[in-house]
Amino acid sequence: ATPTSVLVGTGRAAQHGVLFKEGRHLERMHGVDAVVLDKTGTITDGKPKLIECEAREGSAERLLRLAAGAEWNSEHPLAQAVVSAAVSAGLDVPKPDRFEAMPGYGVRAVVEGRQVLVGTRRLLQQQGVAAREDPERIGKLEARRMTVLFVAVDGRYAGFMALQDTIPAASREAVKRLGRLGIEVIMMTGDNERTAKAIAGEIGIRRVQANMLPEQKVEAIRKLQREGRTVAMVGDGMNDAAALAAADIGIAVGTGTDMAIEAADVTLMRRSLTGVASAVRIGRKTIANIR
Ligand code: ADP
Ligand code: MG
Repeated sequence: ATPTSVLVGTGRAAQHGVLFKEGRHLERMHGVDAVVLDKTGTITDGKPKLIECEAREGSAERLLRLAAGAEWNSEHPLAQAVVSAAVSAGLDVPKPDRFEAMPGYGVRAVVEGRQVLVGTRRLLQQQGVAAREDPERIGKLEARRMTVLFVAVDGRYAGFMALQDTIPAASREAVKRLGRLGIEVIMMTGDNERTAKAIAGEIGIRRVQANMLPEQKVEAIRKLQREGRTVAMVGDGMNDAAALAAADIGIAVGTGTDMAIEAADVTLMRRSLTGVASAVRIGRKTIANIR
């Protein structure tokens, strides 16, 4: 039978907006000594805005229009930001004839008969296109915590878009509280290192692992576990499901995708990472009561 203290604990956690699927997950929470945080949609609010759009071929409007067409079918927060920027600008966004998402890289699509690529510098490179931009210029945008997406049209570099997400105050507070509980906080993200470090720096996270594909996040979590760590992973995206399952405790952000919520042991019902610190605290208290 479930000890009363576990019931009390899960009830208290629920009051903090933290839903445990099973009582044993609350008990496991007390041993957590590393919390891995996804960046987009977990630390940040996951609603990036387009800040800059610069074309190297044709007009900025054409660039945005074709990029939005390519992103039309993508569920990625960056894609939705590009599409809404185009719609807000009053552009008539063309639907793609073909579309392929490349997780961790971006998208490839056929829009109005043109081959369009939108994503990381690596994506373009991989497809044989050099993103001819001054690295210093791009670096400055990234240091202002913007994610820069590069665009190619018909195999030619076409320009870039810079997007910026907001960081809720609760994320900084959560990192502080976890630190006080003696827990190491680690950011793992598919985004580039400079943007990742700019965001980490703002909220006091010292350990950052960037440019990570979903399977590399899983591998990194396993490595921590081999080192004897008990790992809680917090994520929101479809891409995070494998990492959530690999962690000792998987925590899904309630506004995240169904896939993340299904893969997780715990769901945060409030859009606030402070729930993670509350869960650890309640887990510890529960174990103290049992023993
Ligand atoms: P995160 O770990 O922040 O959730 P992802 O692994 O989803 O990041 O993506 C890593 C990077 O790949 C993004 O920062 C972006 O540069 C690029 N990317 C992924 N999906 C898309 C997309 N639909 N459109 C453009 N770029 C994308
Ligand atoms: Mg995410």
